[in-house]
Amino acid sequence: MPMIKAAVCHEFSQPLQIEDVNLRAPEMGEVEVRLDAVAICHSDISFWQGGFGGALPAVYGHEAAGRVTAVGPGVKDIRAGDSVAVTLIRACGACNSCGAGKPTICETPYDGTKGPLTTADGGQVLQGLACGAFAEAVVVDQSQVVTIPEDMAKDVASLMSCGVITGVGAAVNAAGVRAGQDVVVIGAGGVGLNAIQGARIAGARRVVAVDMLESKLDVAREFGATDAILAEGKPWAEVKKLLGRGADAVLVTVGAAAVYDKAPRYLANGGKVVMIGMPHLDQTASYSPIIMADAGQSIVGSKMGDVVIRRDIPWMVDLYQQGRLKLDELISGRWRLDQINDAIADTMTGAARRNVIVFD
Ligand SMILES: [Zn+2]
Ligand SMILES: [Zn+2]
Repeated sequence: MPMIKAAVCHEFSQPLQIEDVNLRAPEMGEVEVRLDAVAICHSDISFWQGGFGGALPAVYGHEAAGRVTAVGPGVKDIRAGDSVAVTLIRACGACNSCGAGKPTICETPYDGTKGPLTTADGGQVLQGLACGAFAEAVVVDQSQVVTIPEDMAKDVASLMSCGVITGVGAAVNAAGVRAGQDVVVIGAGGVGLNAIQGARIAGARRVVAVDMLESKLDVAREFGATDAILAEGKPWAEVKKLLGRGADAVLVTVGAAAVYDKAPRYLANGGKVVMIGMPHLDQTASYSPIIMADAGQSIVGSKMGDVVIRRDIPWMVDLYQQGRLKLDELISGRWRLDQINDAIADTMTGAARRNVIVFD
């Protein structure tokens, strides 16, 4: 599969160009996957805007599913023909974090500028987010893929590769929500709806959605929010009135530093803010150490829901097949690769759940 079509970023914030790029064959430990679907995530948009830095030209996209077409030497448990979800969670398996069962924070850096993508005339193309999935095919490390059932639609399966594991995992793994706890989810977008589902599945007593749009709060209720509060004025005061105390966990799923500033105000004593949404690099937030220390509260970061994909994705597939995890309802639009700039623009309006690029 030497030449493939990809949506290439040559200049930050400028339209992606659909062009032929070279994808080299899989090497040691790598797999080649012909993609059927890739969803657009806000992280892709932040990279495209230059908000996270990085080299150009680049191919972004990291929420994908498809079929394995070739495997390199040393690949275990994955074979050509397998249906797989493709994630950005590239784990070396040997570092301290991997040894501790935390592959999402693997300590071995990956240099996407030395990845499998080159231009037609041989120039290097950054493999964005270790995937480069805004393309017909990817070559990724075997640690990044997990097999999924043959009969699961790939557009639905692609969502599990980022938005679903990030949201559900943040509630279950990072916040460690226990039955009977009260949870606030700020932002009812693609990740927030999954954080709401995760809190519901974990057995939360109240799941309170907070968003700036009424329309998204309506959707939040469909996904399991027991209460919904418009983000205007002092929503934390509304939440405290509603719960009679603060929340045991506040899951922040929007990448806005201003929201992080206020997030500890929602907490009960002993509560935890989980940082999920990723503001641009130049953004900072502040909090009161004395108030948080006095109340035994904490702030923790969570990347990709702290998941172990071969444990958590099969679990989420089961939940989906049992009707306990909504996935179909997350897709708000299907687009072709040559429509990707329109799909990105639609995602940036904030009204979309997930826009998915589907390949023939
Ligand atoms: Zn993502
Ligand atoms: Zn590692």
